[in-house]
Amino acid sequence: MADGTETESRKLLGRLREEMASEAAGQERLDRITHLIADSIRAEVCSVYLFRDEDTLELCATEGLAPEAVHKTRMRMGEGLVGRVAQSGKVVNTADAPSAKGFRYMPETGEERFSSFLGVPVQRLGEKLGVLVVQSREARRFSADEVYALEVVAMVLAEMAELGAFVGEGAALSPLHQQSVQLSGGPAQEGYAEGHVWLHEPRVVVTNPIADDPHRERERLNEAVEELRVGVDKMLEISQGGDKEQLQVLEAYRMFANSKGWMRRMEEDIALGLSAEAAVEKEQSQARARMGQVTDPYLRERLADLDDLSNRLLRILTGQGNTNGSDLPPDPILIARNIGPGDLLEYGRSLKGIVLEEGSVGSHATIVARALAIPLVVHVGRITTEALNGDHILVDGDQGIVHLRPEDTVANAVRDKIAMQAKAQERYASIRETPTVTRDGERINLVMNAGLMADLPSLNNSGAEGVGLFRTELQFLIRNQMPKRSELVTQYQRVLDAAEGKRVIFRTLDIGSDKVLPYMKHVAEPNPALGWRAIRVGLDKRGVMRMQLQALLRAANGRPLSIMFPFVAQADEFYEARWEVNKTIEREKRLGHILPETLEVGAMLETPSLAFAPQKFFDEVDFVSVGGNDLKQFFFAADRENELVRRRYDTLNVSFLSFIAQIVERCNSSNTPLSFCGEDAGRPVEALCLAAMGIRTLSMRPASIGPVKSVLLRADLQSLRKIIADARHRGEQSVRPAVMEWLRNQG
Ligand code: PEP
Ligand code: MG
Repeated sequence: MADGTETESRKLLGRLREEMASEAAGQERLDRITHLIADSIRAEVCSVYLFRDEDTLELCATEGLAPEAVHKTRMRMGEGLVGRVAQSGKVVNTADAPSAKGFRYMPETGEERFSSFLGVPVQRLGEKLGVLVVQSREARRFSADEVYALEVVAMVLAEMAELGAFVGEGAALSPLHQQSVQLSGGPAQEGYAEGHVWLHEPRVVVTNPIADDPHRERERLNEAVEELRVGVDKMLEISQGGDKEQLQVLEAYRMFANSKGWMRRMEEDIALGLSAEAAVEKEQSQARARMGQVTDPYLRERLADLDDLSNRLLRILTGQGNTNGSDLPPDPILIARNIGPGDLLEYGRSLKGIVLEEGSVGSHATIVARALAIPLVVHVGRITTEALNGDHILVDGDQGIVHLRPEDTVANAVRDKIAMQAKAQERYASIRETPTVTRDGERINLVMNAGLMADLPSLNNSGAEGVGLFRTELQFLIRNQMPKRSELVTQYQRVLDAAEGKRVIFRTLDIGSDKVLPYMKHVAEPNPALGWRAIRVGLDKRGVMRMQLQALLRAANGRPLSIMFPFVAQADEFYEARWEVNKTIEREKRLGHILPETLEVGAMLETPSLAFAPQKFFDEVDFVSVGGNDLKQFFFAADRENELVRRRYDTLNVSFLSFIAQIVERCNSSNTPLSFCGEDAGRPVEALCLAAMGIRTLSMRPASIGPVKSVLLRADLQSLRKIIADARHRGEQSVRPAVMEWLRNQG
């Protein structure tokens, strides 16, 4: 870097800092800043464009363009050169702007006189704030040093905006993080919640982006990086001999922490006048911008590692962010980019709601949130950048909507819904002990799905008659190493103790597809949902299957036991697994352990193929449970994890209901008990139709038992069957409209 640019840049940043300390507010300050930049860079024009809303940029201050255009000239993302900079997050530097790709002439600005154009994005940690532009008459490309210097200035502008430097009287600029915003995502656990934002990883606020002693800043950076390196080395030492993948991540951290390129870039930023923390953040912002463009999963992971490392470095430098759970605000709503199931369990039921920027409906965090019955919305773009700790927030887990800093009218509407929900809960509590018998005398068993100890108190609270699906993999997923057999015995014992004699169906380990054990070697598969998962893994890794079976038999210790194998696609798989159960029983007997009083071994019907298995299978299996989540995805060939298609096909589609009726018939012909344990069992309208099709046991989330029981108690399944049959004869694709109308007529 040329020394001249360095001195100029430091001088400019010094003046910007004076500006920040000055009394001037909002617009006046922004005007003075554009003047300062134009003067320092020796360009005739300097303009600042800021986002008005997500898609619109507005000229907010200018030196050199027509003053009347300020707050009038607007462009959309991608429109003109300014819009191109905003959209791509990349610099545009051209000597001949009118001939450049995407140029759009804005007559009101008088910019036709200027030939050179240099635009750099104003962004902060992936959050796009605007564009900083300099222009000059002379047709010349700006030098690399000038571009670099302007990027540094843009970084400082972003920090100033974050600190509210341009907000104030006459500013015509909305303060950041103060307006109310409504954001949408995917509903992952229903329910409403009102509370205050708790950022899982709080934003580090850099209050001193500019520093005038580069020597001191370099020292601070070096000291912090040293502390970071020592920390990473310590983590590596502790992890030696442990999990390989965790080691790989730490090795990547160490590589970055020792990266000369990374250090050099930050030192150059400091030489131009940035403080150490601003330099870290500038590099982090650029890495985040790259992350948005990289599609290779390996590279994305590495950039995410770098991002994490930068966060650690920022925390060391600023001393911020080392909060712990004891600082939680009242009614905390957790906001995170993503969160692991272990972390979420640590927060536990203290959370009122959860909003994730990424996440997915089938992720482990979602499973935990559901077990804890905490409203959850996933895929909420921008939430981690929009929300600040302590902000008022409302979560609508039914619709997948989040209201941040809501207006009173919105807050009141959501509060009404919360009150209605509480009333409904009272109603459900009053029918908790009532057996589920429909108006026409059909007895339906309502049991619950579980997977964590945290679920078990719900057995009594919800009125569930037992556990129809205990997902044993959750205990494996939330740890970072394979549990020991003795630990499993203790866990299963505790589950059976808590059930107090009610039946619990333990499903053996269902891993693979979306459920990946962090400590098991990950096998890259082209199509994981159709791949090596569930019973397929169990049969190929007999050691794990045997260990789990032994643990279950020992935990039962003379009590009745029900075991169910997931994802059985053909009868032989079930026979082989059953053979393993028999062998394990023999071994346990030889070892002198007490065997269960009774043992039932069932299969989950999750692939259409099993519905067409030979009669022998239905005669031999002790019970069948339809895993509707998987069955539906294979029946309709629509990935349950893919937002684009997962809601495309209705459970009440005539084809699917006919298929369910066939399964019921096959089970009835051999007197094989049948249940349904997918999510649809917990949706009142779907549950009604499944019952009408002949399903007599429905297993669902505990929170769904009340609503499902309430509709079943009022239903006449005989007449519902007629409604469904009529709709089918009329050739309707889904019976939903007919069923909904029937329900409305029933009141
Ligand atoms: C199902 O597929 O319906 C099921 C209950 O299993 P999981 O959701 O755990 O795959
Ligand atoms: Mg399944």
